[in-house]
Amino acid sequence: MEKHVVGISQYIAPVDSVREVVKLAGGLSKVPKTAKVFIKPNIVFWSKSVSFPKWGVITTSRVMADVVKLLVEHGINDITIGEGTVVLDPKDKETQEDAYQKLGYRSLEKQYGVKCVNVFDRPFEKVDLGDNVSLNFNKDILDSDLVVDLPVLKTHAQTVVSLGIKNLKGTIDIKSRKKCHNVDGDRDLNFYVSKLCNNFPNILTIIDGIYSNERGPAFEHRKINYDLLVASWDVLSADFVGSTILGHSPDQVPHLAHAARFRSRPMDMTDINIQGLELESVASFHNHTFPYTEDNSLPLSMAKMGISGITYPKYDSSLCTYCSLLTGAVLASIAMSWKGSPWPNVEVLTGKLMKPTPGKKSILVGKCLFEAHKKNPDLKDAIFVKTCPPDPGKIIEALNQSGVALEPSILLNLDQFPALFMKKYANKPEFDESFYKI
Ligand code: SF4
Repeated sequence: MEKHVVGISQYIAPVDSVREVVKLAGGLSKVPKTAKVFIKPNIVFWSKSVSFPKWGVITTSRVMADVVKLLVEHGINDITIGEGTVVLDPKDKETQEDAYQKLGYRSLEKQYGVKCVNVFDRPFEKVDLGDNVSLNFNKDILDSDLVVDLPVLKTHAQTVVSLGIKNLKGTIDIKSRKKCHNVDGDRDLNFYVSKLCNNFPNILTIIDGIYSNERGPAFEHRKINYDLLVASWDVLSADFVGSTILGHSPDQVPHLAHAARFRSRPMDMTDINIQGLELESVASFHNHTFPYTEDNSLPLSMAKMGISGITYPKYDSSLCTYCSLLTGAVLASIAMSWKGSPWPNVEVLTGKLMKPTPGKKSILVGKCLFEAHKKNPDLKDAIFVKTCPPDPGKIIEALNQSGVALEPSILLNLDQFPALFMKKYANKPEFDESFYKI
């Protein structure tokens, strides 16, 4: 049986560590010097205004620079870096540019002639991914000879892990991203995500585990200085190994299980040949779910504060990026507004599938729930936040109208919110910002 090679190594030194893990995975010898290369980092979120915890959230600029140097050293001179970071205002092009500048990508442009593209400024092309799934991908990545996929070693609240396959979601257009958060249980988010790598024969995946992230994909939860790299010429094998390192058996990660079935691959990794460090020696359990009450009514931390008279059922996989960008901020605002007196039986519903509870004051957030329930005669008193993306100001109004006097500062200054999470990293030298500079 042909075995897929996966390299695991420690991150010790610039360029040499990336060179070592790529060598363990089989090296670059088959890549012609004329190859057009597209590098896909993971910049899942960005703020122009404040510094926020990037550790385990965003691909380190250190690994990005090391990869570029390695490719240039190999003789490659056609390199494009591309990402499609989602921002609440679809017309906002400044945030992606700010990320590229502050992460040092523009200096790679000057030094090595690398091009940096915002995928939303570029054309998309519809791609048939099999099983009646088609999504619109960025044309630059489709036109490349080699994709270097640079995900971060992280767990994910909706998809258990977010590694090489999931990282490719940042190269599809917004319509396709919404399509992935499908309401059909048999063809849900995990099913769609499993298809993302079907059209790229040449992907070199290098999982950046200098920092890992628990309960990702964003900045709120525990980060670990892990100093690890994983690489493979087979993205599914890289993800199997990455997932196992994060403490999640691949058969418990639905999108990996779907992708393995689609390729008739065994789930027990018997077709994977690991080179370098031993898998067991580097694995450590990373939780992926946001802890909620048993009845799914509130985050556990809010229930422990004694908050009552409001429910905010846990997100499901139909909730897509714009709405999930707001979830943490709305919950933090509700927690900040609690003064100890029960609120008047309010519920806040999100995503595409949730249904209002009779007798509650329901707030339905987003265009999807508006479209699904706007004609329901039993919902005369429900409050809709009708748009996609949902307007933060309208969410404040809706909560105020329902009897929850919401502390508005977080939602009115969303760009500042991530800075609140920086405090816990003060005086911890292992959380080093210089990994995000070139
Ligand atoms: S309203 Fe929310 S759930 Fe609906 S498409 Fe927009 S982001 Fe997705």
